[in-house]
Amino acid sequence: MITKDLYERKELRQLVRDFTHKEIVPHLDQWERDGEVPRELHKKAAELDLLGIGFEHGDLIDSVVLTEEIIQSGGSSGLMAALFTLGIAIPHIWQSGNEDLKERFARPAIRGEKIGSLAVTEPGAGSDVANIRTKAVRDGDFYVVSGEKTFITSGCRADFVTTAVRTGEPGYKGISLLVIEDGFTRRKLDKMGWHCSDTAELHFDDVRVPAKNLVGEENQGFAQIMRQFQVERITMAVEAYATAQRALDLTVNWTRNRETFGRPLIRNQVVSHRLAGMAQRIDLARTYVREVAARVNRGEDCVTEVCFAKNAAVEACSEVVDAAVQLHGGMGYMRESEVERHYRDARILGIGGGASEVMTELAARRLGFA
Ligand SMILES: Cc1cc2nc3c(=O)[nH]c(=O)nc-3n(C[C@H](O)[C@H](O)[C@H](O)COP(=O)(O)OP(=O)(O)OC[C@H]3O[C@@H](n4cnc5c(N)ncnc54)[C@H](O)[C@@H]3O)c2cc1C
Repeated sequence: MITKDLYERKELRQLVRDFTHKEIVPHLDQWERDGEVPRELHKKAAELDLLGIGFEHGDLIDSVVLTEEIIQSGGSSGLMAALFTLGIAIPHIWQSGNEDLKERFARPAIRGEKIGSLAVTEPGAGSDVANIRTKAVRDGDFYVVSGEKTFITSGCRADFVTTAVRTGEPGYKGISLLVIEDGFTRRKLDKMGWHCSDTAELHFDDVRVPAKNLVGEENQGFAQIMRQFQVERITMAVEAYATAQRALDLTVNWTRNRETFGRPLIRNQVVSHRLAGMAQRIDLARTYVREVAARVNRGEDCVTEVCFAKNAAVEACSEVVDAAVQLHGGMGYMRESEVERHYRDARILGIGGGASEVMTELAARRLGFA
């Protein structure tokens, strides 16, 4: 049973709120212009133990609370992507139980000393993960890696990249995960939103990687990736409804203060009803996503519900950020208004971590409809 109490976690909420107000909000516009967040931010988050949540301490409920609070206190989904890339880069390492890899990569990331990325997507294979081509050929104590990865979050800054490589037969049975530290080239990509989160294309040209950097067993990579997708999708669903909540809060404030035709915008019934409709969509999404997150946290098999949760939250978010820009009028189109950023940032949520159509297809298959 989901109760308010489960997600209350007052102390954590207050800690994250204070951190966001002090360390993120005053600098976010500058980081958006810089195209990345500074390394010191990772250290500051680590000092408060925020980067270890879900690994060294805490659970998925704490991660949900963290994500909600950062975004609703004035952060953004882009900021989350940049600062918490370890959330997708190290879980496979953590779960492999390999102490050497944990010591060399996961723990330094949790301490904010190293930045990690996850590289699965390639120019020729995104949704279709089983089709990746980047090759890793064993040569003594090394793998020799050649190929290309793209759209890699924090790929410009990464000290290590947990990389999906082909070590075996074509299809999902021949994929492994290998941690790669250097020897590859990077190209920074410009994009629509998430400007404070650097995104890169990576080229591997016969890069020699120590075989001891293999995560888990050879050719088990596909299952490792799919298992972690559950948490990534929940996180993106939370980012979606939290972004929508923030956009609604800003819009309520705006419509209370903005006067047209001699009265505040909010005094028009069409506006107040639109705001109520936005609040309803957000609440439905939040309640459902939180319920599914609690089930994932208990270790239940709910792949179908995770698909529903991500799609429902993304749809709610798309509608709300669009309405938020509309109700801000011309100011909603200006870079200086926060809703403009959320509108651009939100667009990726229905593409990354499994596109909406792919979520629906997966749910249809699980339900026996396809
Ligand atoms: C800002 C950003 C950050 C990212 N970060 C990372 C990262 O850190 N690591 C990483 O590995 N990847 C990352 N990605 C890649 C992301 O996961 C992929 O873009 C996503 O999985 C979709 O793959 P694709 O772009 O190749 O689209 P495609 O697979 O080519 O699909 C294109 C579109 O076709 C539709 N579609 C696809 N398959 C089907 C189907 N079966 N049925 C119906 N419709 C379908 C969907 O609308 C989809 O959006 C990132 C992407 C972006 C934009």
